[in-house]
Amino acid sequence: DRVTPARALLSVSDKTGLVALGRALAARGVELVSTGGTATALREAGLTVSDVADLTGFPEMMDGRVKTLHPMVHGGLLALRDDAGHVAAMERHGIAPIDILVVNLYPFEETVAKGAAAAEVIENIDIGGPAMLRAAAKNHAHVAVITEPEDYAALIAELDAGDGATGRAFRTRMAARAYARTGAYDAAVSAWMTAHAGDAQPLRRVAAGRSAGALRYGENPHQQAGFFLSGDPRPGVATARQIQGKALSYNNINDTDAAYELVSEFEPEAGPAVAIIKHANPCGVARGGSLAEAYEAAFDCDRTSAFGGIVALNQELDAETAEAITQIFTEVVIAPAVSAEAARVFEAKKNLRLLAAGALPDPVAPGLAWRQVAGGFLVQDRDSGRVGRDGLKVVTERAPTASELADMLFAWRVAKHVKSNAIVYARDGRTVGIGAGQMSRVDSARIAARKAADMAEELGLSARPTEGAALASDAFFPFADGLQAAIDAGATAVIQPGGSVRDPEVIDAANAAGLAMVFTGMRHFRH
Ligand code: 5GP
Repeated sequence: DRVTPARALLSVSDKTGLVALGRALAARGVELVSTGGTATALREAGLTVSDVADLTGFPEMMDGRVKTLHPMVHGGLLALRDDAGHVAAMERHGIAPIDILVVNLYPFEETVAKGAAAAEVIENIDIGGPAMLRAAAKNHAHVAVITEPEDYAALIAELDAGDGATGRAFRTRMAARAYARTGAYDAAVSAWMTAHAGDAQPLRRVAAGRSAGALRYGENPHQQAGFFLSGDPRPGVATARQIQGKALSYNNINDTDAAYELVSEFEPEAGPAVAIIKHANPCGVARGGSLAEAYEAAFDCDRTSAFGGIVALNQELDAETAEAITQIFTEVVIAPAVSAEAARVFEAKKNLRLLAAGALPDPVAPGLAWRQVAGGFLVQDRDSGRVGRDGLKVVTERAPTASELADMLFAWRVAKHVKSNAIVYARDGRTVGIGAGQMSRVDSARIAARKAADMAEELGLSARPTEGAALASDAFFPFADGLQAAIDAGATAVIQPGGSVRDPEVIDAANAAGLAMVFTGMRHFRH
């Protein structure tokens, strides 16, 4: 798996770090081959370089459009060194292997950004560079491919660590980077070309992902929208089979994703769970002895908001639950599977969108999350963090009871999926009040308590549902006032990350009220 390089081909537009890299390779006995400008830069630094033109027997021509597009180059990049047929072909045609490829592309994006005319932009579409990158990356079993000047040092470090050879893991990593670069490059070319073609349909400029078709409109009717698939095999709204109902809208897809990700927090082995979502926030989440029971409990949390909601289930939808769901207007139902009887129940509600996702996603699996900002996008790990019983620190004089602990952990899993500031009251395996998306934590706590009061009125309960409930807060209480709202509402247990400078004040307030409070040491902002 180790490759000791004899020859490197360097062809770079961005000459940053080129001379240092050339020197380091030459010092390690690697022969250098280059295209015009790159060769000149290396020679000016006193290095010995052979020209690609000598290798191919053709001059660089047509203003550089054709330089390296030749079997002497591509054969040297693509040949399998351990395949007798490939080796024979190399011998027959006098093709020497190229073990290292260093290419960075014509500055297409920069040329567009500076507002250049179309002819100049087109001249900056690199053809031979991406072809070589893709060839070398495909053949990473034998070739090390480098496309970013920031990786030059890594190449030299790899050679030094490997006694002058590159390892397979390094070559594979670099090959993945090469394809990321050619993919992004062609995406940029496609976006520019769409605008250049005068196509007024903005969605055609989206060059990432595979189009799953246009949506009727976006978040609002005046916004065009489409759905694009990233190829992520995580089961969910993108991979689900739609059994019946109207086409999914932009908001349906967004909310269904939130619903299914939330319900996946509850392992089916631990019993049925149901989440009802409105505007990407849960209005009711519950466990139950049966799925129908869990649905009724989730529905009871906030019957008003559940109207027109999205329902997600953590196990196969059965007929009894389907009957219960079809009692009110529901936009979308998603479950890992749908029984034949349940599907028949839904047939009477032609418009109701019913999705079978095949499986539940793993809530703690690693993955990435993206967010767009003007001029770029942010990437972070998906929030797959989870704190279990063992990770909790009891900070009050009174420790939680077993049932308080169960409700705390339930509320905590829900709170992770509620927009910040998130406050979730839970009792007996169901949410009884959720405060979402407020700019102050105390407001979220008050709203959650008010939602619980509404629930009591709606269901004609004599006691407040927050009486004896557990409260989860997605981030620490900066002041004791948020905790006081929970005490006033009758909560007896609190789960929160802790870590505020005023923690002692908050703990004092909890002790004074006889509360049990635990710290998770982990925050779940969701903005
Ligand atoms: P140099 O500055 O060495 O003259 O040119 C380096 C640039 O040429 C690199 O950006 C490389 O990707 C690009 N390049 C290499 N071979 C070809 C080719 O055959 N056609 C085109 N259009 N560009 C190439």
